[in-house]
Amino acid sequence: MNEPDEHDPHRLLICDDDPQIGRFIARVAQDLGYQVRIVAGVEALEIEFDAWQPVCVVLDLMMPGLDGIEALKRLSTRKTKPRIVLSSGVGERILDSARNTALAYGIPSIAVLPKPFTLEDVRHALAPDTLRKTPDSPTSVHEAASELRADDLKAAIDNHWIQPVYQPKIDCRTQAVVGFEALARWRSPDGRTIMPVDFIPLAMSSGLIGPLTEAMAQTSLRWLSESFPNAPMSLALNTTVQSYATGTLREQLAAYCERWSIPQGRVVLELTEGEGLTGAPEIISELTRVRMLGFQLSIDDFGTGYSSMLELARLPFTELKIDQAFVRNITTSKESQAIVKLSVELAGKLGLSVVAEGVENAPILDYVSGVGCHYAQGYYIARPMEGPQAASWAWERLRR
Ligand code: C2E
Ligand code: MG
Ligand code: MG
Repeated sequence: MNEPDEHDPHRLLICDDDPQIGRFIARVAQDLGYQVRIVAGVEALEIEFDAWQPVCVVLDLMMPGLDGIEALKRLSTRKTKPRIVLSSGVGERILDSARNTALAYGIPSIAVLPKPFTLEDVRHALAPDTLRKTPDSPTSVHEAASELRADDLKAAIDNHWIQPVYQPKIDCRTQAVVGFEALARWRSPDGRTIMPVDFIPLAMSSGLIGPLTEAMAQTSLRWLSESFPNAPMSLALNTTVQSYATGTLREQLAAYCERWSIPQGRVVLELTEGEGLTGAPEIISELTRVRMLGFQLSIDDFGTGYSSMLELARLPFTELKIDQAFVRNITTSKESQAIVKLSVELAGKLGLSVVAEGVENAPILDYVSGVGCHYAQGYYIARPMEGPQAASWAWERLRR
């Protein structure tokens, strides 16, 4: 048996009482480059986990004797917590609450794999991207992120290593491109690209989110004006509540719009609700001023927080962006269908436009268009692209 290598990111342990399912997942995982072991119960899982130190555990929830929930509790006591893929046929509601259980236990990264699943579902759940993403716990720290220090981030901002990529947004009715969202990428000089999930939490905890947002705004607004001098294209920027504690961001944005002749109404400021938008009077008044200048205000990842309704009512939003967690499985999940329909209805009552993000295939686009979402964004339409490529993509589409 090979010695466990602390740094090998490819050890995957499957815990399922059905050997056929275990072998099926194992084959897909091996194709993806994982080293795989299979166990059939929670006690065996603990023994194998401690001996082999896998980075990822695929866990069946329903097992005779000790169940997957007990396994989550036991794994959460380990020094290094594995990424978890929860698989089960119990239904999405229960899987969701199992996922919340895992988050409450401090397990940072969880994907779900509802049974019955296809080869593609397993592949998607085990893809490094899915496993690295932790949409429900934006403050979790990965191995890569924990090596990053505030000094490095400051240097990256000062040296312009943090650069936007642009993901298009289309009109669901006409399929025409209407704008872009700027997403931050940290291009380190050694050729690595560091993703936002690994540095935005650091930016927020180290007081660097202000300079980062400003750098993103400056580069992307200039790109917008140079790429689309006469086309009414919008640009969405991701901002956090912290950015509005003083009036600086508003003033900077207004200055950039003036310098590059961009009407403020073309700029959409997305706010993530997951971080708990506060009811602080300074924030409410600042966001009101931002709206008074004509900027659009969008509530990002709608539906994933606890106070979304309250914030929608309290803050002057113009757009609601439905979280991709509800969009990605909308063709199969009744719960997601209900949430999306209600969000569209609520937005209609409040006069907001609705964007569906995470549109990954044609049936999803049809579905969200059918229930009344105005705009769509997602890999099916286009992945985030570098500036020149994004501009050509849009011009090509506009000419059609
Ligand atoms: P977000 O604002 O909700 O952005 C959408 C994220 O989903 C992006 O990830 C995008 O690449 C990804 N995405 C888009 N379409 C699809 C799809 O069809 N399927 C899947 N699976 N994913 C899709 P990204 O670029 O990694 O950004 C993650 C989050 O980091 C963003 O979520 C946003 O909250 C934050 N972020 C990114 N750039 C900035 C920034 O400049 N400032 C701040 N404050 N936050 C940022
Ligand atoms: Mg966003
Ligand atoms: Mg979002």
